[in-house]
Amino acid sequence: MSKIKRVVIVGGTHGNEITGIYLVKKFERSPDLIQRSSFESVTLIGNPQACAIGKRYVDTDLNRCFLSQDLENPSLTSYEAQQAKIIHQTFGFQGSQPADFVIDLHSSTANMGLSIILGNENLLNISLAAYLTSINPKVKILYSTSQHKVRPHLDSICEFGCTLEVGAVAQNVLDAALFQETEAIIQEILDYLEAYNQGTPPLTKDTINVYHSIETIDYPRNELGEIQAMIHPQLQFKDYQPLHPGEPMFLTFEGKEIVYDGELTVYPVFINEAAYYEKAIAMCITQLSHRKVNSQ
Ligand SMILES: [Zn+2]
Repeated sequence: MSKIKRVVIVGGTHGNEITGIYLVKKFERSPDLIQRSSFESVTLIGNPQACAIGKRYVDTDLNRCFLSQDLENPSLTSYEAQQAKIIHQTFGFQGSQPADFVIDLHSSTANMGLSIILGNENLLNISLAAYLTSINPKVKILYSTSQHKVRPHLDSICEFGCTLEVGAVAQNVLDAALFQETEAIIQEILDYLEAYNQGTPPLTKDTINVYHSIETIDYPRNELGEIQAMIHPQLQFKDYQPLHPGEPMFLTFEGKEIVYDGELTVYPVFINEAAYYEKAIAMCITQLSHRKVNSQ
């Protein structure tokens, strides 16, 4: 594999996830923190207008604007569609400053802990994720490709990279512990890439736990589309915990339990994510697999 020459650290892809925004501002005040000898690190506020108003987005979700057909579609003129095109033209594969590795910083109201979301299981991404789990047991690896292998996310502008999803923290709120843990992971990623460029990546475990996103589940709704039940208290904040068939998922306003009626034990994540109510997602369902690191 070729060397990493440019790393792009993005905060504020969602304007109300301020851990990443304040980390990027910190790195812009003190660029030495993210520089390494073998590559250049640059920072980016993904959605400046959304950050200015403290909202997830202005017109539409920037982190769903990076499908190649949308980037090439001149009739898409929303603020975020234009912003995605600018980011792609700058840091994309054929951009003016192509990124070799993207770190996209997000936070979640769900109990995502320190999640590394990979859209691509290439050897560098997997080896890096394995390294991060080996030095910090709180790190979870979430694999989020769709069946069609096309993703609309910002980190898809280059082959290597990840989205960091930390939580639980409310929108527009800073949590000092999560801020510091996120910063530490960024430093560990940069150190890993430096060692990788120098041909001496640290050894890691040879098998890792990977949570594969397989489907999303919406809230129970009536014919008008109104939510009819809440996340069950036993499931709240239980991201990455096993959910067995027959266990409660939702609780109606009348107090009736609705159970998980699948046949397999699964591992829900993004449980009760505030930003996903509008996307008709109450949680994402994952399956746990044990993956060998040194095989593609
Ligand atoms: Zn986000």
